Amino acid sequence: HAKKHGRDGSAWFEPQMESDARFRSALQTALRHGIERGEFIPYYEQQIDIQTGKLVGFEMLARWKSPEFGIVGPDMFIPMAEEMGVIAELSERLIAQALQDARSWDDGLTLSVNISPLQLRDPWFAHKLLRLLTESGFPPQRFEIEITESCLHENMGVVRAILTSLKNQGVCISLDDFGTGYSSLAQLRALPFDRLKIDRSFVTELAQAGTNAELVSAIVALGRGLGLPIVAEGIETDEALEALRALGEIKGQGYLYGRPEDAEATLRRLMEQAAREFPSETRKVG
Ligand code: C2E
Ligand code: MG
Ligand code: MG
Ligand code: MG
Repeated sequence: HAKKHGRDGSAWFEPQMESDARFRSALQTALRHGIERGEFIPYYEQQIDIQTGKLVGFEMLARWKSPEFGIVGPDMFIPMAEEMGVIAELSERLIAQALQDARSWDDGLTLSVNISPLQLRDPWFAHKLLRLLTESGFPPQRFEIEITESCLHENMGVVRAILTSLKNQGVCISLDDFGTGYSSLAQLRALPFDRLKIDRSFVTELAQAGTNAELVSAIVALGRGLGLPIVAEGIETDEALEALRALGEIKGQGYLYGRPEDAEATLRRLMEQAAREFPSETRKVG
């Protein structure tokens, strides 16, 4: 429910909304405790080279396994964690866990994580992230952060300094949900991005008969004009995949390749894949 405003601009609540407020506060308490109890866990979604079909890495997507509310998705709890001022702590715990999980993966596979614009307000963010990488022994060259255009509304000096020092250590910087924001190309060029992730709303459209693929094709061309490789997200159908393949070298992810899975299922997938590729060898994973 949207908060309604009284004539003087102050918020007022209907009886039913009062119970919503109570619900929200119960959620907030549960979230705070959930962080301490380790109820937030990383899931992983495959990223694929769509030309060759080869697995290139995984994007970490956070899930909350709450004993009270069940499995809660990030669209619900990330904004809450941001409002409550606990997003940095939550994110650092998730990343530390993901880095540990990723140690068991095959050499060469990458790990991407999503970063809130609020985290880019912290001048120590790059330092903290690089320390997590060092502690885990995971190579920065295989690590990637995804940020959205909303970071362009932050203090650009701080954001640019953070991204530059991460990039100097080999971390890859992706612009997530490309095409949905309001930034100009000039603004985008002010930050050291390494690749663009085309928002899934455009990719979904590709699959619908009669839609012009020209919009997506234009966005891909725009990305290439900026000199950046493209990742397409939200590939759900063979039609969308075929349309993307026609656009050249692109990486992709989506339910067609697989849903996000927890660390255990991800590792099982990797071992099954290795067994298929090298049936005679017993491969060591990890
Ligand atoms: P995102 O980074 O753009 O992630 C893609 C979202 O699309 C994920 O939803 C993923 O599960 C979903 N998706 C992937 N493939 C398909 C597909 O083929 N079809 C459809 N319909 N959906 C697909 P999810 O996991 O609910 O994450 C939503 C958003 O939450 C993410 O968007 C990301 O911005 C944010 N998020 C997730 N984990 C974290 C985190 O640890 N920290 C921060 N700050 N944000 C996070
Ligand atoms: Mg993302
Ligand atoms: Mg996205
Ligand atoms: Mg998104």
